[in-house]
Amino acid sequence: MNKKVVLLAGLVLAVLVVWQLGWLDALTFDNLKQQQANLMAMRDAQPLMVSVVYLLIYVGVTALSLPGAAIMTLAGGAIFGLGWGLLLVSFASTLGATLAMLVSRFFLRDWVKQRFSHSMKKLDDGVEREGAFYLFALRLVPAFPFFVINLAMGLTRMKIWTFWWVSQVGMLVGTAVYVNAGTQLAQLQSPSDILSIQLLGAFALLGVFPLLARKALEIYKSRQALRQWKKPAHFDTNLVVIGAGSGGLVSAYIAAAVKAKVVLVEKHQMGGDCLNTGCVPSKALIRSAKLAHEMRHADHYGLKSQQPEIDFAAVMDRIHAVIAEIEPHDSLERFTGLGVDVRQGSAKLISPWEVEITLNTGEIQRVTTRSIILATGAEPFVPDLPGLDKVDYLTSDNLWQLRDLPKRLLVLGGGPIGCELTQAFQRLGSQVTQVERGERLMAREDKDASQLVMQHFRQEGVDLRLQHQALRFEVAGDKKYLIAQKVTGEEVSIEFDRVVIAVGRKPRLRGYGLEELGLLPEEAKTLDTLNTNNYLQTLYPNIFACGDLIGPYQFTHAASHQAWHATVNALFGDFKKFAVDYRFLPWATFTDPEVARVGLNEQEAKEQGIDYEVTTYGIDDLDRAIADGQAYGFVKVLTQQGKDKILGVTLVGPHSGDLIAEFVLAMKHGLGMNKLLGTIHIYPTMTEANKFAAGNWKKAHAPETVLGWLQKFHQWRLK
Ligand SMILES: Cc1cc2nc3c(=O)[nH]c(=O)nc-3n(C[C@H](O)[C@H](O)[C@H](O)COP(=O)(O)OP(=O)(O)OC[C@H]3O[C@@H](n4cnc5c(N)ncnc54)[C@H](O)[C@@H]3O)c2cc1C
Repeated sequence: MNKKVVLLAGLVLAVLVVWQLGWLDALTFDNLKQQQANLMAMRDAQPLMVSVVYLLIYVGVTALSLPGAAIMTLAGGAIFGLGWGLLLVSFASTLGATLAMLVSRFFLRDWVKQRFSHSMKKLDDGVEREGAFYLFALRLVPAFPFFVINLAMGLTRMKIWTFWWVSQVGMLVGTAVYVNAGTQLAQLQSPSDILSIQLLGAFALLGVFPLLARKALEIYKSRQALRQWKKPAHFDTNLVVIGAGSGGLVSAYIAAAVKAKVVLVEKHQMGGDCLNTGCVPSKALIRSAKLAHEMRHADHYGLKSQQPEIDFAAVMDRIHAVIAEIEPHDSLERFTGLGVDVRQGSAKLISPWEVEITLNTGEIQRVTTRSIILATGAEPFVPDLPGLDKVDYLTSDNLWQLRDLPKRLLVLGGGPIGCELTQAFQRLGSQVTQVERGERLMAREDKDASQLVMQHFRQEGVDLRLQHQALRFEVAGDKKYLIAQKVTGEEVSIEFDRVVIAVGRKPRLRGYGLEELGLLPEEAKTLDTLNTNNYLQTLYPNIFACGDLIGPYQFTHAASHQAWHATVNALFGDFKKFAVDYRFLPWATFTDPEVARVGLNEQEAKEQGIDYEVTTYGIDDLDRAIADGQAYGFVKVLTQQGKDKILGVTLVGPHSGDLIAEFVLAMKHGLGMNKLLGTIHIYPTMTEANKFAAGNWKKAHAPETVLGWLQKFHQWRLK
């Protein structure tokens, strides 16, 4: 910071000196005209030295964003002629612009970023994707002030090299016009003679050209993609939704609600992964496991601890009963009743407007449609490990058919699914070994969050093997082993009875026409998601996608959020399209302690170079948590430096998944820590943790001087 102040002072001083010496006054059109003959004579006498001095002055003026760049450009033409003048000006202006951009980046970017972190992230992402395009367009039009563009670009994360070459190429035409005008200086009355209305119009067209060209390219690409296919004369339906999981069901629901004709195709089970193999069974399993854990620790509550007798088959029966109870929400009958044409079978894209459905009865149907939403989800990724096929492995797909509790369960993977299953099985009585190649569980979360989870896992008896890379599986008689490699290079053998593979989820990309329609890049890797734009359109503007298939967040509520956007854009996009926004998307991992998050955590803020303040509140101090015997965890809030604006929250502890909702609401609607503190929370509830976190923030920002005066005031009143 001090370094910055010194440099800034130096810069201001340099500007003041230049100004005081009256050098800027020399940079006028009339002065240039008067001095042209002298300058040309100097050039004839010492061409190299005059060129170097000219170049240095040009760079200085532009780097300091001083007025006079246009006059300097004219001077280039007047002194050196078109060829040499253009060469000098082109390099001097680009160098000066780049320096000005760097000055702005050095002094202003951090400051702006602190205040507008969310917008800056968006801007940076945009600049990364299309910044060169926009800069090029701006550079083509000399009417856009040169120094403003330099300073503005300094606030972005544009690469220096990109800025350099785009500026040099983009400014070339405008520079040539000015340098050329300089060669005709005697005929000019004022600089405004250079840019006639017609010429400005031509430049504006030139500037708009790349933007139009890009839009045209997009339209061309999708038209080209569509051209190979014959568009039906009329459509059977407005929308076909493929997949009746979290994304597909919401899409079909919304379409039917707004009276569109919608066909929903599901080849397996209505409700998809969430209901049948994901959120619902896992949470039901966790509940049984929690009860078992509490029975073991009943003495904490004055009751006699018990070693629970686990009837694993009954636990599984309960899970299926829970699924059956929730099933009607997602059922064929319900959706048919809502007006959705549900077809049970496998869908395949035949063209961008035609879907072939092979019904489970074997009958084949074809449906023409104006739009399609792909909501085909993801499935467990099974790595290609030698010997895996010999160990009858489990995944989240087939786990729910287990009838016997594995004595020694190996869980491969330290992500949310692996963690939830590890703890649940450990609590139900398996001896679980969890193997993770990274150095901690839940790598996406902050270190302190995963550490608390790991601490609980270890206390509960989980054998955690971190920094272990699975190499192969071996079978010897009826014994099964995982051979893993530690970071030290040493190989270890871990014996187990059953293994669950939980190392990620693979989007369902193949086997239903995406390849044939050219929707998959040739080099698509296993865990790659389907590409869509912000409106959730694929390469074909009438084919949309949502859910686990497209990521970037594989959660039920993320799928629903996207489904709304995909459906509204599919049905009404000709009038208005909505871009999907993930800024306030929360999630939770339902371990004990639960880990919930919205917005940035510390590791992300650091990666993105965002200046933040951290406020924490320890749940071990919360009355309700103490009464409940669950006094562990914390609320960690990241706020903008010096402001109460919430950038992100990590909550670790009981009910975190519920408690985070208040922060999601606050962030979404721009409410800061002060507003949170000013909100009444019921005593004694866990939600008070949120308020106390806000209280800690307030304490850290207490107005010390005012409090000092207040103290004096109260003392005075005692007299
Ligand atoms: C163990 C586990 C626990 C989880 N816990 C949570 C949680 O607590 N909270 C949370 O938010 N998320 C959780 N998830 C994630 C959540 O389940 C998914 O994010 C969600 O199901 C994604 O919905 P989707 O619509 O994209 O896909 P899916 O639910 O997978 O639905 C896709 C559907 O498309 C069908 N389909 C595919 N191809 C075709 C075709 N060609 N024709 C017809 N039908 C087709 C499939 O049969 C499937 O039913 C969990 C996942 C797992 C595995």
